[in-house]
Amino acid sequence: VNAPLADQARALVPRVVADAGRMIRCESPSEDLSAVARSAAVVALVGAQTMGREPDAIEVDGCAHLRWRFGDADDIQGRVLILGHHDTVWPVGTLAEIPFRSGGQIRGPGSLDMKVGLALAFAAVARLELRAGITILVTGDEELGSPTSRQLIESEARRSTAALVFEAGADSGALKVGRKGRAHYNLAFTGRAAHAGLEPEAGANALVALAIAVERIVSFGAADVGTTVTPTTASAGSSANTVPDTAQLVVGVRAERMSELERVDASIRALRPVVPDVRIDVGGGVDRPPLETSMTDALFDRAVRIGRELGIEVAGETVGGGSDGNLTAAVGVPTLDGLGAVGGGPHARHEFVDVDRLAGRLALATSLLAELTGHPAGALP
Ligand SMILES: [Zn+2]
Repeated sequence: VNAPLADQARALVPRVVADAGRMIRCESPSEDLSAVARSAAVVALVGAQTMGREPDAIEVDGCAHLRWRFGDADDIQGRVLILGHHDTVWPVGTLAEIPFRSGGQIRGPGSLDMKVGLALAFAAVARLELRAGITILVTGDEELGSPTSRQLIESEARRSTAALVFEAGADSGALKVGRKGRAHYNLAFTGRAAHAGLEPEAGANALVALAIAVERIVSFGAADVGTTVTPTTASAGSSANTVPDTAQLVVGVRAERMSELERVDASIRALRPVVPDVRIDVGGGVDRPPLETSMTDALFDRAVRIGRELGIEVAGETVGGGSDGNLTAAVGVPTLDGLGAVGGGPHARHEFVDVDRLAGRLALATSLLAELTGHPAGALP
């Protein structure tokens, strides 16, 4: 067991907590671009003070992202990519209700998801004697599905041999070795209106067509392989005595494998109306590919071995929610997710980080980075 590294990590915990507190105290809901810009300035400052280097500020459609590239600026291939985000799901004002608090638990909006994770990543990088070959990308719109950062994430991933995502661990602290992919569909049913009392037979009932389609769509799920197909919202009709000529249905699909998302996609597009004269138009499609375990196995095995050397148990889990790790894996880069804080209540008001787990996370991240980059961890400053 590598006790010195674990002890040094423990000594750095107060610094990690303080750095996280500075970032948590600057609220950053994804939709509020000026709040996100203010947050980016704080994250840039904390990162620069911890790692001794200013980031590149990258603004895309008004959204503030940050990138640190260590080493020769021209030497941009074969890097290790560290990925995180500084936006949160919490509106400005939440901090007044759930103030930053440390102690046994860190509280405050975005603590678990994922400002403590950013502080951990900065501290782990700061521990290395050399940092060449490391790129850190901190985006500002992950909680929206990364509309403005997706290209940036994919292009940095293509230059990298591994992507380490500092999103929170699963509840027990397990690393996220698989994440489901996601698709959404909007189905529009168009029939023909008629008076429901005088001549209903003249109508083509879009709502009846929708109801039949719902039954067929739920049968596309396959629980045994983790594929769920969920009709989520529906609407139809305009008045109580009219055969409805329009109806709308939204369907959410989650699957562990791309092949499953493709199977369901083909099935939904192949739906044919069974009500005469009702047309079905399908909009939407796959919006986040899954993080498949084949892309995480090798990095996870390394993390387990390193954990054993540090005396830390490292587990892995496949989870439902997506992250930017899905994007890095989809361009073919081995990815490990959930390296950040351990706690509970992501996106819930009781969101918290367990301070006792920080030293172990920092030691694990530092050792993993040291091994992937070939740069040893240095002595404490
Ligand atoms: Zn997150």
